[in-house]
Order: sequence, then structure tokens, then C-alpha cells
Amino acid sequence: MNARPKKSFGQHFLHDRLCIERIVAAIAPRDEDFLVEIGPGEGALTLPLLAAAGKLTAIELDTDLIPALRARAATVGELHIVHADVLKVDFTAMAHSHGVPRLRLAGNLPYYISSPILFHCVEHAAAIEDMHFMLQKEVVDRMAAAPGSKVYGRLSVMLQLACRVEPLFDVPPESFRPPPKVDSAVVRLQPLPPEELHDADPAQLYAVVKAAFAQRRKTLSNALKQVMDSDAIRRADVDPRARAETLSPADFVRLAKVVPTAQ
Ligand code: SAM
Repeated sequence: MNARPKKSFGQHFLHDRLCIERIVAAIAPRDEDFLVEIGPGEGALTLPLLAAAGKLTAIELDTDLIPALRARAATVGELHIVHADVLKVDFTAMAHSHGVPRLRLAGNLPYYISSPILFHCVEHAAAIEDMHFMLQKEVVDRMAAAPGSKVYGRLSVMLQLACRVEPLFDVPPESFRPPPKVDSAVVRLQPLPPEELHDADPAQLYAVVKAAFAQRRKTLSNALKQVMDSDAIRRADVDPRARAETLSPADFVRLAKVVPTAQ
């Protein structure tokens, strides 16, 4: 119990009872769920989730934490620990191997890789029912930002095209050991049904969004020069003089659809 937290693994252990209860209540685990936790650490969320769900799969990279976690969980429920880097875990294969179409994800994420984890989850969105994540508050603000907001960007567009983004509540640094330097927040993400997913090619969509926001103060005709010309931008019903930060996620989908394909 109470291992020395490792900075290199982004370890900030939750010890705020009320916050833990609120997260478990937001998840509201059901018996039939295939619940997967990212980064169980010492089990602050794992044990209450396990008590509520009866069984849980947890993905942890730090070998040193696993024996104590396994021992603590033994009398609580059926805990399956996967020793792996979450970025290498194929959630789609994991759901299928458990014979379920979709799993539920939860976790107080390691902040040093929060954006890669989010993009990784978006790639597997079809195999995910919902996600409840603790993240830096600043990241949650960016995920939920509307066009025109200062923090609206790549993360907002890519997340909002794939999921309903619902910030739930803020968490102060004192709720963790050691306290992180930033405020945190819990967010719920619900992947949109396939019919709401837009039929743009994901690679082209990513390329357009990345180029547009790489130079967010420039007009689109300038920022997208390497990707498409002004006529193509107009064909997508978008003004080439506009800036990326004013475009809706749907505008980006239309742009991605008119990107000339490489031969
Ligand atoms: N869930 C615990 C809690 O709330 O107290 C720990 C949260 S701590 C912020 C993040 C956890 O993710 C740590 O246990 C850390 O070892 C683990 N972790 C870090 N990088 C990881 C990775 N790439 N894949 C899986 N787990 C990782």
C-alpha cells in the first residue's frame, strides 16, 4: 500500500472519497458490463468499481503496482489485470474476445499521454459504449470547446465528431497524492452511433484538421495550401478567407470529402 508515486508513469493517486464516489456514481456499473479501467494504480477507483460491478479488467503499465493491487482485489471481486501500455491495447479485439460488442472504459488517466489515449480510443469508438475519464481540466475544456472559443482546436473537432462530450465536474489538486500542478476534471464520452459518424476518410479528415489548426491565425486558403486549393474549399461550401477556429466539425467533414486523393 502507498507505493512511492512515479512521475515517469504520471502517477497521481486519488484519495478523495467523495470524488471517488461521484466517479463511480457517474459510471453506474451494471452486472452485464464489460468494464475496463486504464491505469488502476493502487486501486482507488478499481476497488469501488469492482465492488459495484463484480468483475473488472484493468490495464496497468507499472509492474511494481500489480501484486498489491491483485492482493487487495482478491476479496472484492474478479479482477483481471492486463500488464500493458494502453496505447498498444486493441479495444476492438478485447471486446470481441469477451463476446461483447462494446466495452465501457474508465480511468484517472496518466496526463503525460492523455491526448494519445483519447485519439487511440476514438479509433476504437465502435467497440466502446462510453468512457469516464479524469483529465487535466484544460484538456476537458478543449475537448468540449465550441467554434469561436480560444481553446477550440484539433482535439475539439476530432472528439466531437466521434463522441458526445459531457464535462461532469472539476477536481482540485488536493484530491491526489501527490497533487498535480494543474486542475483536473471528469468527463463522459459517448461514441456516436455509426449513422451519425460522417463518411469522410479518417486519414483525410485528420490531415485537414491538423493543417488548418497548425496555422490557426491564417486564412484557410493559406493554412490548407499543401492539402487543397481555394476552389476545393469553396466546393465544400466553406469560405477560403475564414479561419479554422470559426469552422464547425461538420465543415471539416465537408472539407475532408473534397480533398483531392493522392494518386
Ligand atoms: N487510478 C489510480 C488512481 O486514481 O489513484 C491511478 C491513476 S494515475 C493518474 C495513472 C495510472 O496510469 C498509474 O497507475 C500509472 O502507472 C498508469 N499508467 C501510466 N502510463 C500508462 C500506460 N501507458 N498504460 C497503462 N497504464 C499507464
